[in-house]
Formats: sequence, structure tokens, C-alpha cells
Amino acid sequence: MIAATTHEKSTSSQPPLLRVRNLVAGYPKQANIFGGTKIVPAIHDLTFDIHRGETLAFVGESGSGKSTTGRAVLRLLPVASGSIEFEGQDIAQWGRRTPLDYRKQVQAVFQDPSASLNPRHLIAHSIELPLRRHGVSSAKERRRKIDWAIDMVGLQRDHLNRFPNELSGGQQQRVAIARALVLDPKLVVCDEAVSALDLSTQGQIINLLADLQDETGMSYLFIAHDLGLVRHIADRVGVMNQGHLVELGETESLFKNPQDEYTKRLLDATPASTPIGRDARRAARVAERERTRAELVSKA
Ligand code: ADP
Ligand code: MG
Repeated sequence: MIAATTHEKSTSSQPPLLRVRNLVAGYPKQANIFGGTKIVPAIHDLTFDIHRGETLAFVGESGSGKSTTGRAVLRLLPVASGSIEFEGQDIAQWGRRTPLDYRKQVQAVFQDPSASLNPRHLIAHSIELPLRRHGVSSAKERRRKIDWAIDMVGLQRDHLNRFPNELSGGQQQRVAIARALVLDPKLVVCDEAVSALDLSTQGQIINLLADLQDETGMSYLFIAHDLGLVRHIADRVGVMNQGHLVELGETESLFKNPQDEYTKRLLDATPASTPIGRDARRAARVAERERTRAELVSKA
């Protein structure tokens, strides 16, 4: 379906969707023989916002704490200190009792779709499970949402009656995106979501994510080690080094004029990519949609 309007990313004058302050989080470790645990921090004092409709990317070397940040935001990890506010509510303190509603509104797409899809489940079943878990009790309503999601990610309805191993890697990742999308999330954590795909498929999935964002207005926390990709999709970029956020800025200004020494080294180590600004890509996609619409109208 062609949407009549596209969502504009919200300006920074509006309150952010996600507001993270002085966040310290990490991995539990047994502290003594009596079973007490302490948290060994892997990320230190992180402060950042994610606005509605925005893509914030986190880059950095392997082990710098990108995935840990994603897991903390998804509330899969204990928070040692600091706050994570989602729509004004501090969710850092909720621990394991994180409300179902937050789990619905913040979804994830990970690197390896074949590992995140159950090989014994039909695609339809994989997309239906989150709907059941989140209380969509009408089978008709679930069916409607599944069909909508599969259309949105550019797959055919008959893909629903296949198993994951009958699909290509790119198609499997589209299913993983459909499964996240079907709950109508406000934020999606994409952790190396295209890293396992070949180059041309990477481009298709990146463009799909950008299109979906334009149509739904959702935000992305886009975690990647590939700076070229990040330059292509992100509105703003955060650079992580050894668990610290060393620099955070608008994508083009960070690439053209990095401030931090570590960022400079990271950029120097990366082959130059041609910047295609987000606004230019958005304009191209909108123009393409307008053309398609005009063709449909002229044929009608
Ligand atoms: P990145 O995603 O940037 O490669 P990670 O967030 O995975 O980095 O890792 C950050 C730090 O947290 C590393 O020092 C890593 O060893 C540690 N770490 C990651 N996963 C675990 C885990 N499951 N248990 C304990 N430590 C972990
Ligand atoms: Mg990682």
C-alpha cells in the first residue's frame, strides 16, 4: 500500500521518546558463595536521547559495548545505576517486572535471522506468536495484522506458509522485521541487523527499514560496526569506546568534522564512502512513490 503522507522526524523541541541518563549496566556475576550477585559494568555513564522518527546509530569496535547498550534499552540486562525514560517513565527500575506494554513498544531485530526464527515454525506462526503473547485474541485480527506486516516488508502472502529454511537470508530478515513490526512498536533496536547479509541484500534491507520508518514514524537504535551503512541511514551517530560514549552528533557533521581523537582514528581506518544524506534519500523515495501513484491513477 502507498501511504499518502510520510512521517517527519520530530524536532528536538519535543520531548524525546527515549531519554537515557548516566546509564551504567552490565552482566551479573556471582559475588560470593551465598549466592549474592553483583553487576560487572560493561557500559559506563551513557547519556543520550532518541527522538520520535529518528535513527540514532551506535558505532565502535567489537567489544565497545554497543550490543550491551541495546540489551539494556530492551531491558534484557540489569541496570546498575542511571535512568532510562521511555515516554517520560523511568523503566530502569522495573527490573524483570518490565510491563508487557514496554516489551511491546520496544522491539528488536538481531544479526542472524536463522537463529531468531524457529526452524519448525511456519513463517505465519512466527509472526503470529508476538500477537498472541500481547493479547490479540481475535484470530481474524491477528490474520489481518500478519497480512499487513508481510506486505509491508515486501514479501508475498505465500511466504507465510513456508519454513525459514525455504527462504533466503534477506527474506528471513524481512520476516524478522515483520515480526517486530506487527506489534506496531515505537522503537526498534537493530543490532547488526544487516551484517550477515551480502552487500546488495544489505542495501535492500536498509532501504526497507528507512521506508518503514517514513511510513510508521518509529525510531531506530541502529547498532553497527559498518560506518558506511551508518552514514547512509542514521540521523545522529554515537561513537563507543570501551563502554563509554565518546562522541555523539549529527551524522554528516560527525563524519566531516569529528571532534574526539578516537572517532578520528575510527574514521581514518574506514574507506571513504559517498555520503547520501538522509534527506536526499527520503526525497528520492517519496518521488518514486509519487511516480507509482501517478501511474496507477493514469491506468485507472
Ligand atoms: P559490541 O556489541 O560493541 O561488540 P558488547 O556490548 O557485546 O560489545 O560487549 C561489551 C563488553 O561486555 C565486552 O567487554 C564483553 O566482553 C562484555 N560482554 C558481552 N556479553 C557478555 C556476557 N554475556 N557476559 C559477560 N560479559 C559480556
Ligand atoms: Mg555486538
